[in-house]
Amino acid sequence: MAEENPFDERLESLVRRAVRRRLDAVLLFGEANIRAVTDVVCDNGCLVVSPHAAPTFITDFRYVPMAHRVAPWLKTVQLKRGQTFADAAKAALPRGVRRLGYEGSVPACRYRSLLKAFRRAELVDVAEDVLALRAVKTLPEIAKITRAVALNDEIWSLARKEMRPGMTEKDIQRIIRGFMNALGDGEAFETIVCAGANAAECHHVPDDTVWRRGEPLLVDMGVKLDGVCSDMTRCVRGRGEEYGDVYSIVLEANRAAIAAARPGMTCGALDKVARDIIRKAGYGKAFGHSLGHGVGYEIHEEPTARSKSKTVLEPGMFVTIEPGIYLEGKLGVRIEDLVLITPDGCEVVTRSPK
Ligand code: ZN
Ligand code: ZN
Repeated sequence: MAEENPFDERLESLVRRAVRRRLDAVLLFGEANIRAVTDVVCDNGCLVVSPHAAPTFITDFRYVPMAHRVAPWLKTVQLKRGQTFADAAKAALPRGVRRLGYEGSVPACRYRSLLKAFRRAELVDVAEDVLALRAVKTLPEIAKITRAVALNDEIWSLARKEMRPGMTEKDIQRIIRGFMNALGDGEAFETIVCAGANAAECHHVPDDTVWRRGEPLLVDMGVKLDGVCSDMTRCVRGRGEEYGDVYSIVLEANRAAIAAARPGMTCGALDKVARDIIRKAGYGKAFGHSLGHGVGYEIHEEPTARSKSKTVLEPGMFVTIEPGIYLEGKLGVRIEDLVLITPDGCEVVTRSPK
């Protein structure tokens, strides 16, 4: 129990948020949420955090030794046979819980078990608080994500050397996947490969469409490494005047947003920088998604750079800058980089040429 706890800071801010919201305790079930405050990776656990008790991790028999090894500073309790997490959490807390924080995303059966165990308590959804906490990365997380992004860049350049016109989208997906499995921990999400007009579908599922010579190709890929994700979109440019024009507009929007990203700016204002360029070029309706998202243990995290978002950028946040223009039946262009917000602007972590 005397071991140092590297997650003190995040746990403390979780407790501070709990106190601010007059919560007696917060129960976390989400794998990425638990990991972000303990480093414990477990899909069947409950972390109990409270201003009135030491942090306690409840899990079943299978995960107890792992929790002891990864987080020796954390009190780990083994779930008894037939006991619900809610009952075990209640036993780990002082009596009289009045307000209980939980993740609004829990399954209905779990929610009902919380209602049953904490009959007198008011349940308060704190999912957003936890996501906000995770949005600002710790130094080890920044190092890990930076390494994952560098590996993703390397895989893209290796794959480029093997990709040839005449291959199908699936062939190219297999090449990229192969490198991700060999050099990293696999895909952070299913690699998207779109030949020609298929790129007009933002999240096209690769099929047997052949990539023809002179045709553009869009690839959205992210390798997973040491538990964290990376995310990048690159287009191999194709022939055609309209394609060239659209590519230049998207690139301009991408560069302008990167130049603008800085702490203190709202996510809505960042989205607007890119959106204004695309709108003024006459393609406003063809950019139907938000500018970007955070990346971490999960592929989509906070902050979300979307229109009107009031979330303020802070140093230590990662956010993708991924404007796009999609013309159904014709073409699609998206250019996606990952940036890290720094004290005086942002650092572009993605290095692949665009
Ligand atoms: Zn992506
Ligand atoms: Zn993305």
